[in-house]
Amino acid sequence: MERFLKRKERVEIDIDNLPADPGLRPSIWSYDVNDRDRIRRAYLLKGPHQPKNHQFPQTRIGNIARRFNSKWFEDFPDWIEYSIQKDAVFCLYCYLFKPQEQVNTSRGSGDIFVGEGFKNWKHKEKLLSHVGDHNSAHNKARQKYHNEEIKKVTFENASVKLKLIAPKVQKEICSAMAAETLAVIMKDMNDSYFTILVDESRDVSMKEQLAIAVRYVDKLGQVIERFIGITNELSQALQRSDQDIINAMKLVQVAKQRLQMLRENGWEPLLEEVSRFCNVFEVEVPNMNSKFKTRGRSVKTSAEIINFHHYRVDLFYTVVDMQLLELNNRFSESSTELLLCVTCLNPSDMFTAYDKRKLIRLAELYSTDFSMVDLMSLDHQLSTYIIDMRTSDEFTSLTSIAALAKQLVKAKKNIVYPLVYRLIVLALTLPVATATVERAFSAMKIIKHRLRSKMGDAWLSDCLVSYIEKEVFDSIPNEVIMQHYHKIQSRMQSL
Ligand SMILES: [Zn+2]
Repeated sequence: MERFLKRKERVEIDIDNLPADPGLRPSIWSYDVNDRDRIRRAYLLKGPHQPKNHQFPQTRIGNIARRFNSKWFEDFPDWIEYSIQKDAVFCLYCYLFKPQEQVNTSRGSGDIFVGEGFKNWKHKEKLLSHVGDHNSAHNKARQKYHNEEIKKVTFENASVKLKLIAPKVQKEICSAMAAETLAVIMKDMNDSYFTILVDESRDVSMKEQLAIAVRYVDKLGQVIERFIGITNELSQALQRSDQDIINAMKLVQVAKQRLQMLRENGWEPLLEEVSRFCNVFEVEVPNMNSKFKTRGRSVKTSAEIINFHHYRVDLFYTVVDMQLLELNNRFSESSTELLLCVTCLNPSDMFTAYDKRKLIRLAELYSTDFSMVDLMSLDHQLSTYIIDMRTSDEFTSLTSIAALAKQLVKAKKNIVYPLVYRLIVLALTLPVATATVERAFSAMKIIKHRLRSKMGDAWLSDCLVSYIEKEVFDSIPNEVIMQHYHKIQSRMQSL
């Protein structure tokens, strides 16, 4: 039950019982200024009054009996209204949103759809001329109507009906939301270094999707990873090979060494172990010096090899080599070097990983960011920096490079050691973890499952940007998004 506080001179409005028949409605301008928006919203929720099963009465126009054609409801579904009381047609847009002076002054044909109602059934073209061009009073009223509709859909508890009838509006709002969210992210990035992270995955509709995120360090020294969109255009080129590489680096090196050792010395122990296992479970162990029998093929066609060769060369070496190759591909010499240099910045355990030579090497790898002069200054800065760090309480208990960056900014040491800080920013923007991208795909599953699976890529991307970047999105006032939406709208109309 909607009741509202009234001032003394104000007539109480029963919002649930506003006259539905357009012929019986008082002018919107006759209501109190404080009630109008509520009344507009109520009519907007109901939509145009279209009594489709009414027996429309005949009227003699000239010599011919004519009447309202219910097909016109289909021709102008969004605004046309029929009054049973007056046997006349009205316009919902213009009733609700046409400016007062235009409603009151002209009593001509233009406003008949708001005033006494149109009933010249012979002239359907008058309906078209009522709509007019994109600048017409009707279209201006229509725009206001849709803006109001959007507010309902987006920011309030919209009725299911409105949500469903306005998918196009929703898409456009999504697009405005995403654009504004991205604008905030871009502003925050300023001209800092950034990396673009790309990851590929299949969504529930088995379409390959590519998530794109940026990683950068903001003014407070914080590492920020932001999701910026999704596309399915690239795809197979990129493989999922990025894990938390820095932490895995040492393990990788160990793994490589162990694989190499296994290749050289591992065969005999492995064979022994397998044989022992087979004996326990009474499985027959083939004689390594017997001729190897290929399964499914005749003995004649297969090459004359013994079991030893087959198991050792064809299986054991092949598997080990594949593993080594895979590891080498993923962790090439150059990227391994780069990452090992990066780990030297790690502040854990009183900066034990610190290695000046490697840090200078890291700067050399980024020659566009560090000139020869920079490299020399860096050498000095590092020497002072490490003493400073190891003797300052606020730095000795840090455990990650990200925390180090934040603490440096907080203590304004990023100004004291600008080159060291530059190195840290560089290290932090390296795509060592793809948390954002991972997040994008799990969010995509939610959104795609909950909504329909057939969604345009653009809409999906827009939804995801706002959904994943909730914090950024929440910081944007609704008005900003509405303004953006209006700009798009008017641009589209002027086309
Ligand atoms: Zn109109």
